[in-house]
Order: sequence, then structure tokens, then C-alpha cells
Amino acid sequence: MPVKRRIRWEGSYYFHETVLPEMDYSINPYFGCEIGCRYCYSIYYFKVRKIGYRWGEYVEAKYYLPRLLARNLNRFKRGAVIGIGTYSDPYQPWEKELKLTRRILKILRRRRDLHLSIQTRYPLILRDMDLILSGPSDVGSSIPSLEKRFGEVFEPLVPSPEARLKMLGRFVDEGVETWLYIAPVIPRINDDPSMFEELVSMAKDIGINTVYTDVVRFRIGVKKYFMEALERYDPSLIPFFKELGRRELYSLYNERVKIFREIADRIGIKYIDAAPMMFRD
Ligand code: SF4
Repeated sequence: MPVKRRIRWEGSYYFHETVLPEMDYSINPYFGCEIGCRYCYSIYYFKVRKIGYRWGEYVEAKYYLPRLLARNLNRFKRGAVIGIGTYSDPYQPWEKELKLTRRILKILRRRRDLHLSIQTRYPLILRDMDLILSGPSDVGSSIPSLEKRFGEVFEPLVPSPEARLKMLGRFVDEGVETWLYIAPVIPRINDDPSMFEELVSMAKDIGINTVYTDVVRFRIGVKKYFMEALERYDPSLIPFFKELGRRELYSLYNERVKIFREIADRIGIKYIDAAPMMFRD
């Protein structure tokens, strides 16, 4: 779905402390994401702010951020880990033209002690390799599924899994710590242990340090988009997801986590179930 509205936004907030795993603060150069994945938990923030566009059609660039960060750099505690792109992709297509994320990284690098933890699905991040290598950092990406049909329906604008792995491989080659987020895990769609095993083996072969999983978050607004996509993906699953409550969702996921852990141990890669560390919906 093409983006319909892009706004250069002059707002007031710039970073906040976060409960996300292994991070102290999070910074998102953009609000909204023109990639528009049909399971994205950030749809919730669209709902909260009552944005009158469909998810994927609207994005705000926080144009004021570099200026505010430059003025307030000393507010980050010493050695803090700053997550970049926790709620929207910092290298989504508009970034190519705006270079907003790049400007933000440049400013953050004035503090040599800050660790930057960057998450993206777009190889455009390779443009900023110089800044990433100039201080403590790690880079991650998410691949929920290797299935072509899943990609076409649930994340049609995302580069292929192979492109995402290749991108991470470039960081491995440069000695940057890398991680793969195999998420969101959605029962009966992408929770097959054999696919997890294939993904983990690919990650291991490339030299990725850690794999994470997390369960799908059907927060307010998300399920509507998910169900629309499900209609195209496999309508026979609609009754199952209509009935699926949170308790059952978590129980199905937790059963899988035990198997995922055994697989990751066998392959010899660090595995972290991120669900207990993340916010609960
Ligand atoms: S790329 Fe990430 S932030 Fe953007 S829509 Fe997809 S899951 Fe959400």
C-alpha cells in the first residue's frame, strides 16, 4: 500500500526510557512506518493518536530530533544503550532522501560512551556503516518467516529474508554484534519448529550472535489489519483466530519456546525469549 502522507513534524519529545530488553532509551526518528506490515504492534500507537490514515499510509519524520538531541546529549546516563527503531523502521524508504537517521547517529556519536542498538529491515543501513563502526553498537533485523506467501501477504514491502540476512552478514564481517529477531511468532502460521531451525541454522552460518523470539501482540487495532491479511493468506484460519484468547495464545507460544530453546542449543547459538521482557498487551 503506497504511502499517502509524509509530514516533517516539529514536535517536542525526543527520547524516552524504555522497558524493551537490554536497552535504556529508545529513539524513533519516524512515527508511523510506510512499510505497513500487517502484524506490526505499532499499529496501536496509530489508534491511540487517532491518525486518520490506514497503517502504512502515513508517516511523520521527527525533523526536530537532531536539534533537540544535540542540546540534550548530556541527559543520557553514562554508557547507556539506546535502541534506535524500536517502533518504526529508521531506514524506511523516506530515509534515503531525508537522511534523518543519519543525522541522529552523527549527533549521538559525539558521546563515545553511548551504545547504539539499531533495528531495521532495510539494507539502506549499510550507508551509515562508518558511523556504526565509529563506536559501540549492535545491529539486528527481524525475519518472522521464510515462506514466500507469508512475505507477500503480511509484509509485502519488506526486502526478502535473504536480503536481510545478507545485510546482517555485512555487519558480522565488520565485527559488529548482530542479532536476529524471529518474530512475531503467530500460531499455525509461522511457529513450525522446522522453519525456526532453518532460520537459526542460516543465522549461525552467517555468524549472527543471538536469536530472539517474541509472540504476536494483538494490541488494539492490530487484529483488524491482521484479519484482513489472513483472509487473503488462508481464510480457513479465520475461526481459529477469532476464538483465540490471550491466555491460549501465550500458552501455545510458551510450548514452542521450549522446542525453540532445544533447537538453538543443539545448533549452538544464543537464544533469548523476549516475550517476558517486553510489555504485555
Ligand atoms: S517494518 Fe517494522 S515497524 Fe515497520 S511496519 Fe514492519 S514491523 Fe512495523
